[in-house]
Amino acid sequence: MQTRFSNRQLENPKIAEAEHIIRSCVHCGFCTATCPTYMLTGNELDSPRGRIYLIKEMLENDRPATEVEARHIDKCLTCLSCMTTCPSGVHYAHLLAQGRAHIEKTYKRPLKNNIIRSLLSAILPYPTRFKWAIRASKLITPFKRLLPAEFKAMLGLKVILSTEKLAETSEAQGQKKYRMGLHGGCVQRAVGEHINIATAAFLTRRGVELITPKSVGCCGAITEHMGKNEVALNTAKAYIDGWIEEIEKGTLDAIVINTSGCGTSIKDYGHMFKDDPHYADKAMRISSLAKDITEVIEQIGLGESKIDNAPSVAYHSACSLKHGQKIIGLPKQLLIEAGFEVRDIKESHICCGSAGTYNILESYMAEKLKKRKVTNIEATKADVIASGNIGCNIQIGSGTDIPTVHIIELLNWATGGKKPANL
Ligand code: SF4
Ligand code: SF4
Repeated sequence: MQTRFSNRQLENPKIAEAEHIIRSCVHCGFCTATCPTYMLTGNELDSPRGRIYLIKEMLENDRPATEVEARHIDKCLTCLSCMTTCPSGVHYAHLLAQGRAHIEKTYKRPLKNNIIRSLLSAILPYPTRFKWAIRASKLITPFKRLLPAEFKAMLGLKVILSTEKLAETSEAQGQKKYRMGLHGGCVQRAVGEHINIATAAFLTRRGVELITPKSVGCCGAITEHMGKNEVALNTAKAYIDGWIEEIEKGTLDAIVINTSGCGTSIKDYGHMFKDDPHYADKAMRISSLAKDITEVIEQIGLGESKIDNAPSVAYHSACSLKHGQKIIGLPKQLLIEAGFEVRDIKESHICCGSAGTYNILESYMAEKLKKRKVTNIEATKADVIASGNIGCNIQIGSGTDIPTVHIIELLNWATGGKKPANL
C-alpha cells in the first residue's frame, strides 16, 4: 500500500514502524477469506485490509479517530487469522496496536462505553476484585432484562469462582530436575485456579519445582487489547520486575504459560519494550523464557499414559495459540500420545468470539461466532472439548452442555493426576 507520511512524521519510530507494515500490504485480499468479522458482515471495513486502510488514514493525517474507525477497529477480534493467511508477512498485530492506541487517545467514546471499558480494565486484571464483581453480579441478575448489552453478555458467561488456591511454591516430586515459574493469569486465578493446580500437579511429577509468586500478576494483555497502552505498559513492567526479582533468587528454566492469550502478549514483550532503555533487555529475557505449557511438555516429556477408556476430545485451537504463537499440531499430538481420540473441528481457523473482552464489548458478533463454533464442535460428537485458553473455555462452555476443559487437565489426568471435576 502506498503511504504519504512526511519526513517529520517518520522521525517517530512508531510511525516509521507503521509505515513499514502498511507498505508491506499488497492489497491482495487473501486475508479477507479467513477473517471472521468480514465473513459475518461482508463489509470491507470489517476486513484486515479495510482496517489497515483506516489506520493508515488516521495516522497519516495525524487526526482524531472518527466513529467509523472506532467502530470497525473495535470489531476486530485480534484473532490474527489474517496474519496466518497473509502471503506478504504483514504484521497486522503491531499495526492494530497502534491504531487502537490512537483511537483510545483521540476518540471521545459515548459515556456508557467509556464507563464499561474503564470498569473492565479496573476489575478483570485483579483476581480479588473480579471475584467480588462476580459475587455482586448475583444481585443484579434478576434485573438482567433492563441492563445494557455488555452487562447481559457478562451475566451470560458461565463462570464458577475458584475456591482452591495454588501454593507459591510447588515442590518437585522425586529428584528436582528444573525450576520453573508459572504464569497463573489474572482472570484464571479467579475462575480457573483448578487449571493452575492441574499444571502444577503435572509438572511436579515430572521433576519441576514450580514457583507462582504473589508479586507477579496480570501481564497487561487485557488492557493492551482495549488500546489502553499506558496502563498495559505499566502492568507489563510490574510483571517483568516481578519475574526478574524471582530470577535473582534462582535461575528459572522457563515461565510456563497456560493461558495462551497472555502467552502471545508476553512473548511479544521484546517488541513492546524495544525502544525503552530501562526495560528492553529485561523484557527480552522474560519473552525468551515464556513457553506455552505444551512447549514445556514437548521439552520435558509427557510421561507414561495410565488412562483406560479415554473420552473422545474435540480440540479447539485457540487463535492466540495457533495464529499468535504458531503452535498448531503440538497440542493435538500430545493428546493422542496421552491416549485420547482427537476429533477435528470444521472451520478450526475461525475464532470462537471470546477474544479478551470482545465477548462483553462486542457481544452481538461474539454470540454469532460462538453459535457457529458450538455447532461445528457438537457435530464432532466428542465427549469433551479441550483448549489451551480459559477465555475460549468460558465462551464455548456458555453455549453447550459438552464439558469444556483445559488441555493440561486431560494430560494431567492421563498421566496419573486427578480427573477433571466436570467430567
Ligand atoms: S485479527 Fe481477526 S478479526 Fe481482526 S482483521 Fe485479522 S482476521 Fe479479522
Ligand atoms: S493478505 Fe496481507 S498483503 Fe494481502 S491484503 Fe491482506 S494484509 Fe494485505
